Amino acid sequence: MNVILLGPPGCGKGTQGALLATRTETTRIATGDLLREAVRAGTDLGQKAQSFMDKGLLVPDEVILGLITEVLNTPEAQNGVIMDGFPRTVTQAEAVDELLASKGQTVDHVFTFEVPDAELVRRMQERAEQEGRSDDTPEAFQNRLGVYQEQTAPLIAFYEQRNLVTAIPGTGTKDEVAARVQGALQG
Ligand code: AMP
Repeated sequence: MNVILLGPPGCGKGTQGALLATRTETTRIATGDLLREAVRAGTDLGQKAQSFMDKGLLVPDEVILGLITEVLNTPEAQNGVIMDGFPRTVTQAEAVDELLASKGQTVDHVFTFEVPDAELVRRMQERAEQEGRSDDTPEAFQNRLGVYQEQTAPLIAFYEQRNLVTAIPGTGTKDEVAARVQGALQG
C-alpha cells in the first residue's frame, strides 16, 4: 500500500506517518528528514538544499527528483511506503506515479490533515523550543505556509480527480487523529 500524506507544516504528517507505518508494516519516508540528514552530513545534496530550507522555500524539483527515485527504489520501499512531505509539486507527483508504475504499483490513498493556521503556528512555536529547527522561525514558517498553499495544495485536486483523497480533521490527540485515519482506511 502506498500512501501520501499532504498538508501544511505542523499538521501532523510526521506523527501520523510514523504511527501508520508501524500499523501497516510499511516504511515511512520523509524527504524533510532525509534533507536535514544530508545538511548535517554536509553532502552535495545537503549543500544544494540548505539555503532553500532555511528560507522555508521548496528545494528545486531537479534536486528532489533524484532523492525520490533513490528512496522509492530501496528494498524497504517495495512493500509500500508512507510518503511524508513528498510529492510537493505536480512534477514530483508525476515522478512518483512513474516510479510506482515501473514496479506495477500505484498511489493508493492520499490523506490531508486539516488544522487551523493559528494551531499550526502554536505547534511550530512548541517544536522550535523542543527541536530548534532552523526553519521553525516565524518568518520561515510563514513562507512554508505560503509555499504549501501555492505549490503543494493544488495536488489535492490532482489526486481528487482519481478519488484518492480523504480529508482528516487534524486536531485532537494523536491517537484520535490516528483512529480517524484507520477508520478511513477500513471504510
Ligand atoms: P518538512 O520536514 O517536510 O517540513 O521539510 C522541511 C523543508 O525541506 C521544506 O520546507 C523544504 O525546504 C524541504 N523539502 C522537504 N521535502 C521537500 C520536497 N518534496 N520538495 C521540495 N522541498 C522539500
